[in-house]
Amino acid sequence: MARRKIVAGNWKMNKTPSEAVALVEELKPLVASDDVDVVFCVPAIDIIPVAEAVKGTNIAVGAENMYFEEKGAYTGEISPAMLVDAGVKYVVLGHSERREYFAETNETVNKKVLKAFEHGITPIMCCGESLEQREQGVTMDFIRQQVKVGLQNVTADQAKTMVIAYEPIWAIGTGKTATTEQAQEVCAGIRACIAEVYDDATAEAIRIQYGGSVNAATAPELFTQADIDGGLVGGAALKPDFGKIVNYK
Ligand code: PEP
Repeated sequence: MARRKIVAGNWKMNKTPSEAVALVEELKPLVASDDVDVVFCVPAIDIIPVAEAVKGTNIAVGAENMYFEEKGAYTGEISPAMLVDAGVKYVVLGHSERREYFAETNETVNKKVLKAFEHGITPIMCCGESLEQREQGVTMDFIRQQVKVGLQNVTADQAKTMVIAYEPIWAIGTGKTATTEQAQEVCAGIRACIAEVYDDATAEAIRIQYGGSVNAATAPELFTQADIDGGLVGGAALKPDFGKIVNYK
């Protein structure tokens, strides 16, 4: 069965609650689609107003992070139950910015992935190499480790429902998109890794996005590669261009 495409916007630390609602209103008609799952991953404080604003549309709300404990003395953190209660369906985990600035590791990402599944939230688990790693020829070794550790103790049935976002760090926010061949090659490598860890059926079911400076011009070719099932989009998710990316066909 063909995998359904999924295009998610990662708003990062942009938009106040009132600005977020205004952006949703602007994008709503532009991202309408019967063919593609559309997700707006927004800052924690924007989740409740955005969830209200997208009611009755095809847009699902995602969070940009989540803690792996149920509740308690973790000042400043957001629990999975809080996200579920606010209407969140997806959560971005292990984004390279969180790995770089907030000490996320493959192990903490794994704890968060497991916790998201416990609460019925779909993880969008990010992976991707630095420019140095690409130049050293260790891209796939590095990504395989991120994927394998990130998925430890995740069952095949759970893995089938999740999303992996391949985001080369050198392409995020730089305006430098990976070539279609580079993106397809790594996404195919991730699928092969899933087949090794689980089985072919799981590898065929899991959705793998490309992320890194995707725009309206690059989306059509990227999203029609055999192993690329949509995109995780940063900068362009805050603009009307996001509608063109969702409707890339
Ligand atoms: C991202 O934040 O996940 C991302 C891919 O950003 P950009 O599209 O701006 O490179």
